Amino acid sequence: MNTQLSCNVFSIASEVREPRPNFYVTMTAMIAEKTHRAELLDGRIAADAIKRGVAGEVAALKGERGVTPRLAAVIVGDDPASAVYVRNKIRACAEVGIASEHLPMPAATTTSELLQVVKKLNEDDDVDGILVQLPLPKQIAEIEIIEAIDPAKDIDAFHPVNVGLLAMGRPRFVPCTPAGIIELLDRNDIQIDGANACVIGRSQIVGKPVAALLLQRHATVTICHSKTRDLPAVTRQADILVAAIGRPAFVRAEFIKPGAVVIDVGVNKISDPDQARDFFGRDADARVDAIAKKGYTLVGDVHPAEADRVAGKRTPVPGGVGLLTVAMLMKNTLQAAKWRR
Ligand code: NAP
Repeated sequence: MNTQLSCNVFSIASEVREPRPNFYVTMTAMIAEKTHRAELLDGRIAADAIKRGVAGEVAALKGERGVTPRLAAVIVGDDPASAVYVRNKIRACAEVGIASEHLPMPAATTTSELLQVVKKLNEDDDVDGILVQLPLPKQIAEIEIIEAIDPAKDIDAFHPVNVGLLAMGRPRFVPCTPAGIIELLDRNDIQIDGANACVIGRSQIVGKPVAALLLQRHATVTICHSKTRDLPAVTRQADILVAAIGRPAFVRAEFIKPGAVVIDVGVNKISDPDQARDFFGRDADARVDAIAKKGYTLVGDVHPAEADRVAGKRTPVPGGVGLLTVAMLMKNTLQAAKWRR
């Protein structure tokens, strides 16, 4: 591995230390020669390590206190993406020894019917974590459902009590995707303290909480959104760039500071082989095959081929942040069981 590239980008960004000019000269030369390729931050390695840790603690809880953590997953309607997400979560429960129940409800479910189910799960002492898969069908008042979940069982951390605790800097549950991003940074020894971090997106489930967590870890944080002026000029300042937008390959080379760590949260389906060739460059063949076989392939919010030329490290899609999200849900469910019992 090229040592010039494998060194920590934040030591490079420091005003005090020497190598900054050399680094930029090297990066610029490598980008010009197209020899540079961003290192991939593998979500599976981090997710497997987290799940192994959870499995060990679940076994200990069972052995020492006879307690098996339990997660209840409610899904309303038949959205295929939601069905896949819930199936992955139930499968992860089985992997780590957490008991789970899958509660599918018809697409025409009303707010009051769903509230009844949530109430029963709140009252069931054997249930430690309640997950209501979002988005819900339009006729359901999503916020009423979120507010009805017992905050002590709110493993997604969407309830206002848990949102408030996080904002105050004393989180109980941390939303799974933002928590997974911090884990991924930590497990890859990426320094957050003092880094310039930029988050594109200000949603309740990703953008705002990940910005809060980065701030708590002493990054200097900028949050961008659809009204941000000259977005690339802002994002190019970032040592850590988090993209949570929901637009395929939106973040291009000019958004990225050379050597930056780029975290791609987006999950978007594309079905045009030409688009796949543009986005995936020399890795496009497998994606074009996937489109031929399944009708689509997944791409994040970051243009992977362009990010590869400029970023120091980046997360792949799939195989990046999404795997961490599920692992952190397991961690939150275990935590709920430990607190409640
Ligand atoms: P969201 O609620 O739709 O929020 C999107 C954000 O992007 C908004 O804040 C929006 O700004 C901003 N945005 C949209 N267009 C923009 C533009 N042209 N320039 C700058 N900002 C722009 O999305 P989300 O729920 O955060 O999800 C984002 C992506 O992450 C989606 O692809 C989703 O599927 C994915 N996701 C993945 C995981 C995972 O586990 N991997 C988990 C959750 C979400 P405004 O606020 O101004 O509208």
